[in-house]
Amino acid sequence: MSRRRPACLVSLLLLLFLAAACRSAPPVRRPARSVILISIDSLRADHVGCYGYQKPTTPALDRFAAGAVRFANAYAVSSWTLPSHASMFTGLYEDAHLAFANNSRMDDDNVTLAEAFQAAGYETAAIVCAPFLRREYNIQQGFASYDQEIAETRRPTIRKVKTSRQVTDKALAILKERAASPRPFFLFVHYWDVHYDYNPPDEYTAMFDPDYRGAIDGLNISKRQDLQPGMDPRDLAHLIALYDGEIRYTDDHLAELLAFIDGSTLAADTAVVITADHGDEFLEHGSTGHTFTCYEELVRIPLLIRAPGLVVRTPVVDAPIENVDLYPTLLSLAGLPPVKRPIQGYDLRPLIEKGEAPPRQELYCETRMGRRYGWHGQKGIWRSLSRLDGKKIHEFRGHKTHTSEYELYDLKNDPRELTNLVELNAELLAKIKSELYRRHRASLELAGDLNLQDARQKKGGDAGKDDALRDQLKGLGYVQ
Ligand SMILES: [Zn+2]
Repeated sequence: MSRRRPACLVSLLLLLFLAAACRSAPPVRRPARSVILISIDSLRADHVGCYGYQKPTTPALDRFAAGAVRFANAYAVSSWTLPSHASMFTGLYEDAHLAFANNSRMDDDNVTLAEAFQAAGYETAAIVCAPFLRREYNIQQGFASYDQEIAETRRPTIRKVKTSRQVTDKALAILKERAASPRPFFLFVHYWDVHYDYNPPDEYTAMFDPDYRGAIDGLNISKRQDLQPGMDPRDLAHLIALYDGEIRYTDDHLAELLAFIDGSTLAADTAVVITADHGDEFLEHGSTGHTFTCYEELVRIPLLIRAPGLVVRTPVVDAPIENVDLYPTLLSLAGLPPVKRPIQGYDLRPLIEKGEAPPRQELYCETRMGRRYGWHGQKGIWRSLSRLDGKKIHEFRGHKTHTSEYELYDLKNDPRELTNLVELNAELLAKIKSELYRRHRASLELAGDLNLQDARQKKGGDAGKDDALRDQLKGLGYVQ
């Protein structure tokens, strides 16, 4: 007995130690094996149910949001398709990645998100619909498979045809194949129907405005003269109902894609990120469509992230973030190391898991396709800077006048940017102007450090030489 007792004691102690070790060891959390990024073109955040919209535009997105992290204050860093997606794919602002004009071919010296995944051994694939995401813009860098069949649809069809069915079918085909393969993948899916023109199928029009008997329709948005401040509010309400119909039509197709993911093995090991590239405006500041300014209706976007291995501190994140953050965040969700070159976005994982917000003091937005007073107004460069205290400045520099005009808003008291305080705050204006200038200079210097140029200056760098592409852009009103 006396010889057995120490052995029993040792066994008991060992069991206690193991039990304690099991209690204190953190659970093993594997990062996502694969990543799906879904961009819904032109979807403004305040028309999404889980962002507070009262009409049933997005039941599928809302269901997805219930199991995801929702960023309540997500911002696009530009207000049109090419530069905003270029920022998602490079982690750089427009001043740094330099894809800012309707004929800007992205520089080969960018290292895109798809290239980073590809270098890590991922299968990479994309399905795109917008002319501005065609290969001519060199935005396909890093995608082994780049399906731009829909983006090649000739004008005027590109504005009128419904594409969500095709996008969903193409994405499902890829996912079925990927689900059966051991190789990790990165898939980019771009939905387009929310983008003007607004001509949803009849049942979707009836869903949001069944009683309308007027004459307004959602066609030829970029060419119309009747969409002006002072138009009949009932007609404007119908135009917005048509936009909502496009959102619901897209959401009904997205529902199929999300249902497939949730019903397959992908649900357990795949990160799904859903966002938009910019919003759309409905005369809040005198125009329709997008591209021209950086007002809130154009830059507030939805962002939902669901990923295995993520320790979610709170399902709704209030800290403001920008879509340049997607680049480092998507790599982080997959457990990949950060890229070895400077970028301007921040990994959002510390914010999601520990509440540690990115160390930026302001949000930045730029569109060099800026315009004052609508489609036919004066052209120029529009930049804006929002400080975390809610003070937001807009600068518009006319291409012909070479003079700048400024607006200053207090978003905390005036979230719709209706009361311009610039005349009252000369000191604050001077301070924010210098911050704006500093941000602009820093981006240009970074572009120099990364050897990035406006690729139009390089041989073969002008993306606008293709006649069919120019034809499409004319149809959308981007070129005259
Ligand atoms: Zn877009």
